[in-house]
Amino acid sequence: MDEKLSFFKDGVRLDGRRSDELRPIKIEVGVLARADGSCYMEMGDNRVIAAVYGPREVHPRHLQEVTRAIVRYRYNMASFSVEERKRPGPDRRSNEVSKVSREALEPVVLTSYFPKSVVDIFVEVLQADAGTRTAGINAASVALADAGIPMKSLISSCAAGKVDGEIVLDPMKIEDNLGEADVPIAMTPGGDITLLQMDGRLTKDELKRAVDLAKAGCRQIYEIQRKVLVDRYSHMEPEICDEAVAMAGEEI
Ligand code: UDP
Repeated sequence: MDEKLSFFKDGVRLDGRRSDELRPIKIEVGVLARADGSCYMEMGDNRVIAAVYGPREVHPRHLQEVTRAIVRYRYNMASFSVEERKRPGPDRRSNEVSKVSREALEPVVLTSYFPKSVVDIFVEVLQADAGTRTAGINAASVALADAGIPMKSLISSCAAGKVDGEIVLDPMKIEDNLGEADVPIAMTPGGDITLLQMDGRLTKDELKRAVDLAKAGCRQIYEIQRKVLVDRYSHMEPEICDEAVAMAGEEI
């Protein structure tokens, strides 16, 4: 009998979450001795690590910008991170994820402070379970702060999706792969969206509900990112981010 998979059992999702619940999150700062800033993050069964280097000299030199730093972002999925071994090296998907993730973070980096230099961000996915781009952006944002890169704010990221006709927060792999839509976003604590993608089909009203739900998720993630940084740097006053905002006096 061809029985359709149901994503809900007794009103909860297959992993026991309600529709508006994030997966458990764990963040560790400063996990790599040789990076200027780093962060390890778990979002459910996703495990990612972000390393930040810079601001440093740009190579190749022709990429230099006279008035500002450039930001580079490389997202890489380890071969062993997925069920079916991933061929090592860049591909269309990882190039796309790298591009949109860089664009999600660049607006908050005060690049004009460091002309002719580069801020390099490397994100390695060690284990994937849908939402790796959002986990990578969250980890990279914390790693940038850990590196002391002046920023207007942190960036927080998560997705909302549609399964069995219902809008759900932070889809896990089975929901992402077999569901009807996936909407990853990234935003500043002030609610400015720096990433918005959509895979699948949604009505206008569903898209609005998905974005609102993902925004609520980002706000929860921001609180965790902030707490982890404050716990690590509470001896430093004023906080790096606040200082950067004050110095810049800029808005996105
Ligand atoms: N995935 C996979 N092999 C791949 C690419 C993706 O198994 O080559 C899985 C992986 O679990 C990933 C999920 O599919 O997290 C969803 O991928 P998507 O492209 O939507 O990006 P993500 O949600 O991870 O940002």
